[in-house]
Parts: sequence; structure tokens; C-alpha cells
Amino acid sequence: MPARYTVFGNPIAHSKSPQIHQRFAAQEHASIEYTRSLVPNSFDDFQAAVKQFFRNGGQGANVTLPFKQYAYELADQCTTRADDAGAVNTLMRQPDGTLLGDNTDGIGLMRDLNENLRIDLAGKRVLILGAGGAARGILTPLLDAKPAEVVIANRTFAKAQALARTFVFEVNAQPLSALSGGDFDVIFNATSGSVSGDVPDIPPQAFSGCLLAYDLFYAAQPTAFMQFAARHGAAQTADGLGMLVGQAAAAYQLWRGYTPDIAPVIAALRAKLTA
Ligand code: NDP
Repeated sequence: MPARYTVFGNPIAHSKSPQIHQRFAAQEHASIEYTRSLVPNSFDDFQAAVKQFFRNGGQGANVTLPFKQYAYELADQCTTRADDAGAVNTLMRQPDGTLLGDNTDGIGLMRDLNENLRIDLAGKRVLILGAGGAARGILTPLLDAKPAEVVIANRTFAKAQALARTFVFEVNAQPLSALSGGDFDVIFNATSGSVSGDVPDIPPQAFSGCLLAYDLFYAAQPTAFMQFAARHGAAQTADGLGMLVGQAAAAYQLWRGYTPDIAPVIAALRAKLTA
């Protein structure tokens, strides 16, 4: 019997997780089963589906929207980065039957930056746009890379302030309108604006001197944010496909102790996306 994994979400039909994990399994010369699990959007339904999956022999699960906070509540133990994020995107059954919760979004992003884009955040001035789940999830691994400065800016300023307060002395908050030119080496778009083609309302000069503008969202074509950033001076732009593959690789490593190579998987997915 191959080891069984799944991804819980709603909606879930679009999820690329099965194809990503099957590519990792091919690298490992292993045979795995990886399914999509559509669950009604309530804590009780999510809890019942997760318990049933693991009772039936499931070994690990990914969790996507809108269940990451529910998974955090459900997990018996959590890693520090999941605690910091207040959200879990990876569950693993431990030998005693309890569930470990991890959040691999941030290390997925760091793998994309380090191995794929070859950007080292050490000593860099970093701006994060957005203060939702994704922004919270990337902060701990990002701070571990020892940037010189991290600023969070968000449409609802109070949310940026609240998030910065949980990383006091390490992260500052600014209103979007207060951003000025030449202040940041790397700018992450962790807003959900790209889903509808919106660019956060920041002054264009914020991108002058910017080495990398990174949109956590991904699409077949460069996102509106990437196009805006390139037009206004960003030297390089990237979308979040590499982060998606990177977070999956970290989950696969947790479950199976095997570290997949992300570059060929990113290339294969990109080719399919743009075909
Ligand atoms: P949330 O709903 O938790 O947060 C959304 C954030 O976006 C809030 O800060 C919100 O501001 C802001 N926002 C939404 N619309 C706009 C707009 N038009 N202009 C400015 N700000 C806006 O979403 P998530 O944090 O979960 O997701 C954010 C993005 O990250 C999504 O695009 C998602 O696809 C991507 N993501 C990518 C991953 C990957 O692996 N590549 C993994 C996880 C997420 P306000 O507080 O004012 O409402």
C-alpha cells in the first residue's frame, strides 16, 4: 500500500498539490497516493474529515484556504513557526497517533529566494505589503534570514500595527501612503489584490532602487503588481509559484525525510501554466 496524503480545502479542484507531490515522489523513486479533499466550510466538518483521514491510515495532509486557522486549533502540537503564524498548512501523524502542525509557507518562500532567485535577505531592507495570513506566515523565516529592516504596510493600517506588535523591535508598521522612494531592496506583495488584478495603492517611487518585487500570488502571465513594479524601477520581479513548490517540498520533507529538488518542479509547472 502506498503512503497516503491529501490536501484539505474549499474550493480544492484547482489545487496543484497532487501534481507537485507526485513529481517529488518520482524524484524519490517512491510510490505515494495524494488526493484532494473538499470539505464544507465549518470547524466541525473540517475536524471530522481530518480525523477520518488519519484514522484510515493517512500519514500527512496539506491544508489550504479557508482551513489554516482551524488546522492550527486542531493540531495536538505545533512547530514554533506555526505558533508564530497562528496557522497550519501541514499536518503529520506522529508515531503516538497525535497530530503535529507546521507552517511551511515561509520556508517555501525562503527556498525560492535562495535556490531559485539567488537573493539573500541578510542585510536587506524589506517591505511587506499586506497584513493577512500570508504576511504573518512568512515573517518568522524571513526574520531568521537577518534582514537589516522589515516594514509592514497595509491598506488597513491598524492591522499592520497589530502584526508588527507581535514581532516587537524587529518589525515596524507604516501606512501605504507613507512609503517613499529608494527605501527598500526587496518588496513582497502579500495582499490578495492580485487575485482581482489590483495593485496596492503605494507610491510608484517605492520601487526605485528595488532589487526584487515578489508577488506571493502566481499566474500564467506576470501579475499587475509585477508589471507595475517593473515599470517603476524594480530590477527583478517574480511570482509565488516557486513559493508554492517550496512550501510543498518542506511538507514532503517533514513527512518522508526526503528533500525534493524544487527547480525542475517549478520549471515543469511554469511550462504547464503558460502552455
Ligand atoms: P488574507 O485575506 O489573509 O489577507 C489579505 C490582505 O490583502 C489584507 O492585508 C488586505 O488588506 C489586503 N488587500 C486585499 N485586497 C487589497 C487591495 N485591493 N489593495 C491593497 N490591499 C489589499 O489573504 P492571505 O494573506 O491568505 O493571502 C494573500 C496572498 O498571498 C494571496 O494572493 C494568496 O494567493 C497568496 N499566497 C500565496 C502562497 C504561495 O504559496 N504562493 C501561500 C499563501 C498565500 P486589509 O487588511 O486592508 O483588508
